[in-house]
Amino acid sequence: MLRVVCASANPHKVAEISELICGVVELLPRPAGLADVVEDADSLTGNARLKAVAICSATDMPALADDTGLEVDALSGRPGVLTARFAGPGATDAQNRAMMLQELRGVTNRSARFRTVALLRMPDGQEIICEGVCEGSICINERGERGFGYDSLFVPDFGDGRTFAEMSIGEKHALSHRGVAFRALATRLGELPTA
Ligand code: IMP
Repeated sequence: MLRVVCASANPHKVAEISELICGVVELLPRPAGLADVVEDADSLTGNARLKAVAICSATDMPALADDTGLEVDALSGRPGVLTARFAGPGATDAQNRAMMLQELRGVTNRSARFRTVALLRMPDGQEIICEGVCEGSICINERGERGFGYDSLFVPDFGDGRTFAEMSIGEKHALSHRGVAFRALATRLGELPTA
């Protein structure tokens, strides 16, 4: 099985990625002590590539990265690539959620989508890139204790009205942007003759 280093150090994301890709690749943790990657590209793909290239160069092994953005229609697609820094540089998830609720106060059109780019980078520079999108809406008040990031604010369109934070991890995977992106990546890897 292909051995791949996970470029993310976020334990929530690593747990989700491991579940989605296990059985297809052997996912190794990001080596401790590597400097944080500055995610200053102007696209999700660009940021995923920055993370994957850094880990690939440091380890000389295939590296797997993802980058996610939340696009809110009433905010003209913001925060998008700036989702992690919506409330400012170094913002916590709670501060970002509070900023989202504040910006959408009194707004009736709350449609939004999560978009994830999953990118596998090989030491020879080859890449597999897959995108996943989950349409939904931003609720009025936070609901649920599970998940991370904006999960307690996001209600997927094809669910039953619960936020991602009110779902089990399996229920979230079945609908989520990350689930779509990594299932596509798993399919592509399964088609490779050497995988
Ligand atoms: P990144 O892809 O780790 O850079 O995440 C960008 C931002 O989106 C961060 O604020 C994350 O907390 C948030 N985020 C990423 N994935 C999810 C998710 O599956 N649910 C909710 N928030 C997420």
